[in-house]
Amino acid sequence: MMRYADVILPLPLPRSFTYSIPIGSEESIKPGCRVVVPFGKKKFYTAIVETVHDKAPSEYEVKEISTVLDTIPILYPNQFKLWQWIADYYLCTIGDVYKAALPSGLKLESETIVEYNPEFEADEPLQAKEQSVLDLLAVNNEQSLTRLEKDSGIKNILTVVKSLLEKNAVFIKEELRRSYKPKTEIRVRLSQAFSTEEQLRKLFDELNRAPKQLVLLMKYVELSNFMGGSIKEVSKKELLQQSAVSAAVFNGLVEKNVLEIYHHETGRLTTFQNTTIDLNPLNTYQEEAFNSINNSFKEKNVCLLHGVTSSGKTEIYIHLINEVIKQGKQVLYLLPEIALTTQITERLKRVFGSRLGIYHSKFPDAERVEIWQKQLSDKSYDIILGVRSSVFLPFRNLGLIIVDEEHETTYKQQDPAPRYHARNAAIVLAAMYGAKTLLGTATPSVETYYNAQTGKYGLVEVKERYKDIQLPEILPVDIKELHRKKRMTGQFSPFLLEHIRKALDNKEQVILFQNRRGFAPMVECRVCAWVPKCENCDVSLTYHKGINQLTCHYCGYSIPLLRSCPACEGTELVHRGFGTEKVEDEIKLIFPEASVARMDLDTTRSRTSYEKIISNFEDGKTDILIGTQMVSKGLDFDHVSIVGILNADTMLNYPDFRSYERAFQLMAQVAGRAGRKNKRGTVILQTRSMDHPIIDQVINNDYEQMVNTELTERQLFHYPPYYRLVYVYLKNRNADLLDLMANTMAGKLRAVFGTRVLGPDKPPVSRVQTFFIKKIIVKIEYNAPMHQARKLLQMVQKEMIEDERFKSLIVYYDVDPM
Ligand code: ADP
Ligand code: ZN
Ligand code: ZN
Repeated sequence: MMRYADVILPLPLPRSFTYSIPIGSEESIKPGCRVVVPFGKKKFYTAIVETVHDKAPSEYEVKEISTVLDTIPILYPNQFKLWQWIADYYLCTIGDVYKAALPSGLKLESETIVEYNPEFEADEPLQAKEQSVLDLLAVNNEQSLTRLEKDSGIKNILTVVKSLLEKNAVFIKEELRRSYKPKTEIRVRLSQAFSTEEQLRKLFDELNRAPKQLVLLMKYVELSNFMGGSIKEVSKKELLQQSAVSAAVFNGLVEKNVLEIYHHETGRLTTFQNTTIDLNPLNTYQEEAFNSINNSFKEKNVCLLHGVTSSGKTEIYIHLINEVIKQGKQVLYLLPEIALTTQITERLKRVFGSRLGIYHSKFPDAERVEIWQKQLSDKSYDIILGVRSSVFLPFRNLGLIIVDEEHETTYKQQDPAPRYHARNAAIVLAAMYGAKTLLGTATPSVETYYNAQTGKYGLVEVKERYKDIQLPEILPVDIKELHRKKRMTGQFSPFLLEHIRKALDNKEQVILFQNRRGFAPMVECRVCAWVPKCENCDVSLTYHKGINQLTCHYCGYSIPLLRSCPACEGTELVHRGFGTEKVEDEIKLIFPEASVARMDLDTTRSRTSYEKIISNFEDGKTDILIGTQMVSKGLDFDHVSIVGILNADTMLNYPDFRSYERAFQLMAQVAGRAGRKNKRGTVILQTRSMDHPIIDQVINNDYEQMVNTELTERQLFHYPPYYRLVYVYLKNRNADLLDLMANTMAGKLRAVFGTRVLGPDKPPVSRVQTFFIKKIIVKIEYNAPMHQARKLLQMVQKEMIEDERFKSLIVYYDVDPM
């Protein structure tokens, strides 16, 4: 009987497709295996088998699977279930999830290759273009279309190749190139004929006439510990280096069949030393928290650990991990991208050694492929420390997921789809394994805190810092008044400068926080108020002094700084606002003797530059560290006595329902970097809004008051956690048509959801990369059946797309937007 497989393609398609299984492969194809299938016009893709069955599809002619890549699945059933959940909940396709889940090396590239036909004899003379393509192929028998196009200089290579194809002069070869190659090392061993001591002795005598070969062989015997019993593996490179003989001598011994070479897969994963240290003993508070978490897990699947900064949450995690792996189960430890630094990896490595694997998006893809494959083997890591995408890794036997800094908004993927929240996906994943989830933070998100308050999650609190160092003292400074009296030096109040100076005199360190990068967020003409804007997006350009350019932070568009205003030709272009780059400039002028570093998106493009800034600061090579929110992410420094928050107002004035919550979290977190080890730290908080309630709450570290005020307002105005938000985005290149589309769709949604629909509105950035954007908000009661709401949303979208006028409409959703 014919067998069929439903496969998932790496394309945004609403469903899976059925292919027939080639005869002979019926047994080897299982769900979770990769296969190569044709799709569309001569395109080949790597697809994942979802199910195997014997029902032929009725609506289309079935094609056959071209190649079977795996006979052992590369996914476990729970990974599939998670993909399905993400696609359903976040209103995207399973193909979107597939694309995000696998490292590129596991998704093969398709590239059209043209092959030379050596049998070909022309009946009639070929055209000049045809002949030149054929000549190229005669030299090099298989070449890609792009390559041929380049080498021949022919513009329309496709038509030429097409006519060559018709004449049977060439073939098309669809070659799938594996972009991942395991790293191997050439190693050396004695061949079977010389495996005993006696045979070896004879050989030594014979080699007396070939002294160089003898030297090499003696070196091998030494390096391999041949006489000592337990033989060590020897690499060819090392052997040649140590014996200082040429490769020719080596080859001589191989030819004599004395030595033989073999390839050994070394892997790219750094092998850690396996000497580990014992766990730090927990102090009383930590011990209590540890026990309470375990107790809470007896009843609930999720527990929130709300511990003040530097209470030693990481130490508690380490003890929990230790318990779980002792039971033979695995642990996933999630961190936001930028918090995953050597600081934390070192701490875990010291305790868990080679049982710990690290999954970071800034690692080379090949490394991520190796981790993936290791997770499928029987030597899988017991602990994975990773970022958002590590929820997709295969786990055999997951026992615990830790989501550190659970409030971090970067856990939510923005673009492209799947727009999933890794914390929420982690909770779902853990439940599939019957595992537990621990959410840790000093500043819980309002949603999580609500879930803990209402008993859905367990709640464990630690209010004391390790070693009882007090939380930093937070001193507000009214810069509105100081600006008016012209008493500010640039962005600095006299009070802040005085504290910085004192810290520097005492050889202590300073962190300055400004949540904007670049030099000036805005340039403006003093005469006519003209502001330079991005050509593609609806945002003003930010001035970057280092490169002397105006840049768009959305699409990267940049232009040199203008000398005069294009609107009125005035030459007085002034800077409005300030970013980290300007802060750096000013501080260097005020404290020329201090060594200053800046940490923001512009100075940390590569992983190493980020790590370097951190280690320089750790080692005391930097006195003052200036940064955006990056400086607040779970970093643990010993000698920071002063933290300066330069301007609280930009955070408070941001137009979003989460802006107060976020402002509190950011300020509390950055304040938490002060005075962690030796003595109480000081935070100087500059603001123009002294009587804003959030400022008071930050000063008193009054998280409860912040969260309770927020909850009241959110309930009143129908926001999370009482309502779920779904943002419906509409995109089109034509602004007028988009208006019509958005109004029509909002009307249809209102017919279904009534007053739960808001908009259409322009989002804060209403044009990105030449597309105009409109946003419709749908608010759904938290207790309403979400699957029903999703069906209705999809129904409306279908109606829209079926309308002839709206063929060019692009719709996508952001569920639980951040
Ligand atoms: P948090 O994650 O809560 O901010 P950390 O786990 O980073 O706190 O702890 C802060 C500092 O205190 C770290 O340098 C850590 O090594 C130290 N520390 C905390 N608890 C202990 C402990 N039980 N034994 C030894 N050192 C500890
Ligand atoms: Zn732009
Ligand atoms: Zn002007």
